[in-house]
Amino acid sequence: MDLFDKCYQFTDARIAKEMDLYPFFVPLSQSEGPEAYVGDHRILMCGANNYLGLTTHPKVRQAAIEAIKEFGTSCTGSRLANGTLEIHRELERRLAEYVDKERALVFSTGFQVNLGVISALVSKGEYVITDKEDHASIVDGCMLARGTMKRYRHNDMGDLERVLASLPLDIGKLIVVDGVFSVTGDIAPVPEIIALCKRYNARLLVDDAHAIGVLGGGRGTCAHFGVTEGVDLIMGTFSKSFASMGGFIAGDDDIVHYIEHHARAFMFSAALTPPNVAAVLAALDVMIEEPERIGRLNQIGERMRKAYSELGFDIGPSQTPIIPIIIGEDLRTLLVWKRLYQEGVYTNVFIPPGVPQNCSLLRTSYMATHTDEQLDEILEIMERVGREAQLIS
Ligand code: PMP
Repeated sequence: MDLFDKCYQFTDARIAKEMDLYPFFVPLSQSEGPEAYVGDHRILMCGANNYLGLTTHPKVRQAAIEAIKEFGTSCTGSRLANGTLEIHRELERRLAEYVDKERALVFSTGFQVNLGVISALVSKGEYVITDKEDHASIVDGCMLARGTMKRYRHNDMGDLERVLASLPLDIGKLIVVDGVFSVTGDIAPVPEIIALCKRYNARLLVDDAHAIGVLGGGRGTCAHFGVTEGVDLIMGTFSKSFASMGGFIAGDDDIVHYIEHHARAFMFSAALTPPNVAAVLAALDVMIEEPERIGRLNQIGERMRKAYSELGFDIGPSQTPIIPIIIGEDLRTLLVWKRLYQEGVYTNVFIPPGVPQNCSLLRTSYMATHTDEQLDEILEIMERVGREAQLIS
């Protein structure tokens, strides 16, 4: 066997391309948020994580431009070495205050936060316990960790308790959970998880990538439930509501101090770039100054969930502005994606291994900046294509 045999034998994507049903890497030629263009084909964007529509906000754009003027384009080094700017520290102070934790630490991507934090904290002989629908970065963080990974059925507290009860009480355990699940848009029952943590001597890390700027007045899942104190670590990304790139971990000073000296994905990777840092600082200002954006986003989420349900679509357990349209079969999902795209609605395809077999779906997500007219148009196209594909009657 040659190492590359698996590459030569990987034909699925080529077959989809030959069938003109390949839904990935579609290059946008223009994007102003809710509307974008592929060449001169106009699409209504229902696939972005730009929840508050801040990627084009004048203050956020300007802050990034000014930061390039002041500091240049890159830090060209690790935060530990030459790569820490005063604005990194300022951002860490602001984020800690925002999510109500003692300290925050900024990483260069959200993915690296999960890789670095989980692998730094979970040592040999210890356990990390995850929901089966946790994000890939959490799964990869667990695979990097020296400890043992255990999984429980999605949002099933009975199954989580079964896993916890099977482990020794006096050994270190970390539960890691998405606050808002990135594909199905449902919320983790954080208060119940905290109660189980207390009973079984476990620590809790909540990945709030899709909750910050969305739930709890913007402050995330823990604020939404009013249980921030009971959550040991809060993780967030900047690639969603914050309209930038990067991520952070927030918690007690001692824990963050340990992480900044042990998380390899933090220590051995270049610092977040100046324009990315400045964009997050400006986005945070806007989130605080314009809370109506968060209200509008949630109102849109509610409207769309209600409309899709009334039309007869299967939207699974969604409780947020992430709304899956569950289709089941892969080929059918690709065909519906293509028809929606042709009609001008852009959604994200999830087929295995991104979701379990026969659970293929189109992930839709919304922004505070979608207008009512755009939402009407999206629903009209969804209804038409949904009937044509016999997803609804
Ligand atoms: N956690 C979750 C729940 C995510 O959805 C994502 C990205 N989609 C990440 C972590 C990784 O974040 P980033 O893309 O900012 O690296």
